[in-house]
Amino acid sequence: MSYQQLYINGQWLSPKNGQTFSSIDPSNEQEIAQVAAASVEDAELAVQAARQAFDQTDWANQPKQRAAYLRAIAQEIRNQLDALAELEVRDNGKPLPEAVWDIQDAAGCFDFYADLAEQLDPNHEENIPLADERFNSVVRKEAVGVACAIIPWNYPLLMAAWKVAPALAAGCTLILKPAEATSLTAIELGRIAEKVGLPAGVLNIVTGIGGEIGPYLTAHPEIDKVAFTGSVPVGKQIMQSAAHNVKNLSLELGGKSAFIIFSDSDLDAAVEWIMFGIFWNQGQVCSATSRVLVQQEIYPELLQRLSAAAQKIKIGNGLDADVKLGPLVNAKQYQQVMQAIRQGQADGVQLLSGGQRPAHLPQGYYVEPTIFVDVPLEHPLWTDEIFGPVVAIRAFQHEQEAIQLANNSIFGLAGAVMSKDLARCQRVARKLRAGIIWINCSQPTFTEAPWGGYKQSGIGRELGVWGLENYLEIKQITSYSSDQPWGWYTS
Ligand code: NAD
Repeated sequence: MSYQQLYINGQWLSPKNGQTFSSIDPSNEQEIAQVAAASVEDAELAVQAARQAFDQTDWANQPKQRAAYLRAIAQEIRNQLDALAELEVRDNGKPLPEAVWDIQDAAGCFDFYADLAEQLDPNHEENIPLADERFNSVVRKEAVGVACAIIPWNYPLLMAAWKVAPALAAGCTLILKPAEATSLTAIELGRIAEKVGLPAGVLNIVTGIGGEIGPYLTAHPEIDKVAFTGSVPVGKQIMQSAAHNVKNLSLELGGKSAFIIFSDSDLDAAVEWIMFGIFWNQGQVCSATSRVLVQQEIYPELLQRLSAAAQKIKIGNGLDADVKLGPLVNAKQYQQVMQAIRQGQADGVQLLSGGQRPAHLPQGYYVEPTIFVDVPLEHPLWTDEIFGPVVAIRAFQHEQEAIQLANNSIFGLAGAVMSKDLARCQRVARKLRAGIIWINCSQPTFTEAPWGGYKQSGIGRELGVWGLENYLEIKQITSYSSDQPWGWYTS
């Protein structure tokens, strides 16, 4: 299968400059595909196609048809589940069962927004009671226009679905720019769009180098909205770039989420959810609970059990049976994570277990599940997002202290709390300054519930009805219905 073309205006086009880049299987460091590297000329074609499809077709006024396309895409993703999941493993490295979840979730996301599109009525207008009876006012919702979605590599097809599905449901047209490390399933999404007959220009898929075409797209005056998921530094650049024409902007950025474990917790459950919270997807999860606060009474026992369990995690190629930890996505990520570990060791932070490349895996970007304990509050292992299978743990004495430590972060994406005292869990959940809080678990994510962060973790919410609102403008239409003159210039 070739990945050397861009999907623009319903056609497969080679990049104008003929450039491609390499996509690597992180389990063996071998190239699996050459991928089209769009130039700004190609990006411009995509913008024109999306603009034309929005301005010159009836796409924005046909929610029932949009719902039918979204359902057809969901069905086709399910038809191709096995192939898409395997491709995701080869491109990203994640274990196959996790890739299967992702692809199923992506299909579910298209179905969910098909349901919401079906409920949209372009003629629906809500009367707004006004204090001044001479006026009538109605409110309606309209698609924002042309959107540009820029996504990361940790959940490639799923992150595409989180943006493409609500944008199309709302009646926007779209340019999707996948991460260069994992462009393959996004291109497959283009083939699916073509197969289900999505009108030309409604969805355009432009693979390429973020630093080259990204700023062109995010500053483009013909793009009305940018929806970005990725790192905080790039999010800040995009905010500045989008300021050129004051674009509608939503940002899903990084995190350093805290997991508070109280001493009455079931220790086996605590071990399982701590591990899932940081080792799932190799820890390359924006909401990973990468800071763990454990109440002093159970600290030694929990650490001992956690370390023993982490060392039993099967590491290897994501396609091999029972593997729970695959390679990191690429050489750059591997080096960054290893650098953070080495820095921690050099600074004398206590490494409880892991911290190495597994001895039996000399090739591929593998890192052992890594546990640092008694991590100083000001150390980067405690404060910075590492985006790998590295957890930083500390003990705490009291509830207030745990809340204060959890909230002491520039991030506010997620948080988690575990205790048999459910009233305490509910109380703590309400005190944590983050957009997503889990009680007695960490990470489960549902299409129906809002997703997004406080503080530097982002702006806006994806998923659920909030995800659809992201792509809708609110318009008021106010009529003067009095027989009387306005009387401003005459007495
Ligand atoms: P990244 O910020 O390096 O890249 C994300 C995307 O932005 C890629 O498609 C990249 O090509 C593009 N890009 C790079 N430079 C650009 C520029 N100047 N202008 C426009 N686009 C540009 O992030 P990443 O390494 O792909 O992903 C990891 C980060 O994403 C982590 O920080 C993680 O926390 C975050 N993330 C957040 C969420 C969330 O929901 N909050 C979900 C997944 C990942």
